[in-house]
Amino acid sequence: MTVQTHRWVADVVIVGGGLAGLCAAVTAAEGGLDVIVLEKTDSNGGSSAMSGGCLAFAGSELQEAQGIEDSEELLLQDLIAVGKGECDEAVARAYTRNQLATYRWLLDQGVVFLPVIEAASGQSVPRVHNVDPADMIRQLERVAGASKRISLRQNVAAKRLLRDGAHVTGVICEAADGDINCLATHGVILASGGFVHDRDLVHRFAPQYDEAVFIGGEGNTGDGLRMARALGADIRDMPYIKGTFGKHPLDETNHHACLAVYKGAIAVNQEGRRYVDESISYKLLGDACMEQPYSVTYQILDADIMRSGENRVRILDFERRLEEGLFLEADSLEQLARMIEVPCDAFLSEIAAYNSAVEAGELPAFGRRHLVHNHGALTPIRTAPFYAYPSTAAVFGTYCGLCVDEDMRVRDVFGEIIPALYAAGEVVGGLHGAAYMTGSALGKAAIFGQVAARSVIAGTETADRCGGQE
Ligand SMILES: Cc1cc2nc3c(=O)[nH]c(=O)nc-3n(C[C@H](O)[C@H](O)[C@H](O)COP(=O)(O)OP(=O)(O)OC[C@H]3O[C@@H](n4cnc5c(N)ncnc54)[C@H](O)[C@@H]3O)c2cc1C
Repeated sequence: MTVQTHRWVADVVIVGGGLAGLCAAVTAAEGGLDVIVLEKTDSNGGSSAMSGGCLAFAGSELQEAQGIEDSEELLLQDLIAVGKGECDEAVARAYTRNQLATYRWLLDQGVVFLPVIEAASGQSVPRVHNVDPADMIRQLERVAGASKRISLRQNVAAKRLLRDGAHVTGVICEAADGDINCLATHGVILASGGFVHDRDLVHRFAPQYDEAVFIGGEGNTGDGLRMARALGADIRDMPYIKGTFGKHPLDETNHHACLAVYKGAIAVNQEGRRYVDESISYKLLGDACMEQPYSVTYQILDADIMRSGENRVRILDFERRLEEGLFLEADSLEQLARMIEVPCDAFLSEIAAYNSAVEAGELPAFGRRHLVHNHGALTPIRTAPFYAYPSTAAVFGTYCGLCVDEDMRVRDVFGEIIPALYAAGEVVGGLHGAAYMTGSALGKAAIFGQVAARSVIAGTETADRCGGQE
């Protein structure tokens, strides 16, 4: 085969057509830049389109209308607390400082938000702004498609970054008819998502997740991470890759987690024993699940908890899963124990101990106080029928990656800016630190996509030294 080398040129080249890439593209075009968006697969959307659609924003009009008091400062405190102080505070501040403007900007683009939901991990007040994720991507694609400044090119995979001296000047990409030099006069934004579909790369950082389920955009194989690392980019948060608890191990149709624990279910292992405070982050629940025998445990609930599900929220839509036969149902706890093949005596005594602690107003084992984070009162598991939801951890995202400054400029291993190279979305490290707050990954895609684009517009490629990052 003859490989031809063509040239495309734009002010800014964006690698990846997920939420981060599309937000960056529309923002850059609004700022007067000509944009090429390269998307490796045959459709835009990546993990964003298949996500749960939860975005974390604070201080929005939607929260206000529901009487929820929230603020930039509280969001920052929560991000730092959830991340166990391991996040990069400058990156966390970039999120909190820009989030409200991005929420309003998304509304202006025609993205529709549902009312704020209650159950959300790591949030001291409810701040999940829910969208239909596929609709959101379609809407942003419509806006981008209507702009004369944006060219969306699918089935084109970026392979390597091009440089003139230290300055990034574009990417070499692979399209149907050969390699193309795609030149960027003002900068390249990497918005290529994470690496859930590169099992070797995941294994290198998180071997404890070898047996987990991996779900995400099919093109998410760490290309952006590799391209930037080839130029000396630094990385962070890699040891904190985590799976999300609540994935049915055998269900291939519904890729979302089910979190009945956040409505009061308990989680028991194959020995019929509880093993964790079920109200903690579903990422930490994922870690705890992977440590149990066979990496599969059961969420146990009764009829009252089953009824408290919320059909419009994917992680709390119990009814649909019941209809799909994913819950095991029994008239008694003894029968349920037999169905899930756990030792009956241990299972019954575990539930009895949990129920009596809850009814006496005492702390059950593992110090569980609430349904989720600091929300909701615990209820006993008493009313038949009883249900079990087999659950393992699924890695939906890698939540770690390139070191950036507050303007999304990529830093090298010496803390210096790599001129004209920007990153946004899941390819970026530093926001989540040790754990993840619900909605902060989609939030980070939209917000940092905008921030990166504004930085290109402002031409903030000046080399800058940063201290203190490893
Ligand atoms: C099932 C599921 C549920 C989730 N639910 C939530 C949620 O409710 N809230 C939340 O905050 N987060 C959630 N997440 C995580 C969140 O969806 C992602 O972190 C976020 O969408 C990442 O956005 P992105 O734009 O960075 O990447 P993506 O949306 O994944 O887009 C990256 C794009 O880049 C393309 N690409 C990759 N390499 C190249 C290349 N070399 N050249 C060209 N294109 C390339 C990919 O094909 C892809 O289309 C969920 C994830 C999954 C899988």
